[in-house]
Amino acid sequence: LKVKVHGDMAASVKVAVRVRPFNSREISRDAKCVIQMQGTSTCITNPKQPKDGSKTFTFDYSYWSHTTADDPAFASQQQVYRDIGEEMLLHAFEGYNVCIFAYGQTGAGKSYTMMGKQETEQHGIIPQLCEDLFRRTSGNADPDLSFSVEVSYMEIYCERVRDLLNLKSKATLRVREHPIMGPYVEDLSKLAVTCYSDIADLMDCGNKARTVAATNMNEMSSRSHAVFTIVFTQRRRDQFTSLDTEKVSDSSGAKGMRLKEGANINKSLTTLGKVISALAEMQNSKRKRSDFIPYRDSVLTWLLKENLGGNSRTAMIAALSPADINYEETLSTLRYADRAK
Ligand code: ADP
Repeated sequence: LKVKVHGDMAASVKVAVRVRPFNSREISRDAKCVIQMQGTSTCITNPKQPKDGSKTFTFDYSYWSHTTADDPAFASQQQVYRDIGEEMLLHAFEGYNVCIFAYGQTGAGKSYTMMGKQETEQHGIIPQLCEDLFRRTSGNADPDLSFSVEVSYMEIYCERVRDLLNLKSKATLRVREHPIMGPYVEDLSKLAVTCYSDIADLMDCGNKARTVAATNMNEMSSRSHAVFTIVFTQRRRDQFTSLDTEKVSDSSGAKGMRLKEGANINKSLTTLGKVISALAEMQNSKRKRSDFIPYRDSVLTWLLKENLGGNSRTAMIAALSPADINYEETLSTLRYADRAK
């Protein structure tokens, strides 16, 4: 086990893309698929120039979920969890701050990848990660090691933070900075949970409280970011003093975050792109200084500072629509993901 370290350690970002099946609207419009995948590469073809208008990108993972499970190339929810979720969970056990986020146009598959479809048991990354977390901690045979799990759920809407788990709280919460722990949201509720169904219930409640759920407008959803935080604490009891001497990964967690983008790219998203590419650049050039990374330029990146840079591991999954009618948006999603590498 590693004790949490604060420092300018270069972050490492895993980048995946995933293409979903056609939706009924695309089927009714007789849409054509513009995405092809081969191994870790994703190729997009401009429907107006099918001969010479294709571009190929390479990511850590290119997930083909456009067909059904009988296709050998098909990437299931379990596979996405095994590759990305489980790796991030293991990093959390090691004491890293972990952040998993989904990016992409409305309807491209962010919620499906992060949350999944409960009714058909197609659980996404967050439920599988929570179940795995509780399975691993309940199997702990070491009497000196104890664990606790707390969750919070917030919405960042037009650069303002709301608590999705306590609707009686003030409409807008303040973002403050702790000298050691870094940025945090004042008065955000953090609830203790002991099993996955506790988490699922809280997440359900929070989803109902979202601004987007109430309005369901594209323009609104493009400004709304949901940040679900799991604070996972491991403590080792000292055999001689009976005190909890080693507090491991005390604010590490897995963040499930859904980013919604419409036609208007907002400040948080633009800044997130800049932060991620600056971190990638820092890592590629082996520069160790992080003071030029523009965390402070948006609420989202400021709050995720410790989860994106520093002692952290980040995974980004870009959700893609397969359809020719969404070509421009999908190409811009691929470019955004490409900059994060
Ligand atoms: P977003 O959160 O990006 O707005 P959703 O996750 O709600 O989009 O996806 C839109 C629709 O597409 C949903 O009905 C969802 O179930 C379906 N969908 C998305 N991705 C997949 C996938 N990989 N496999 C099957 N269905 C999917």
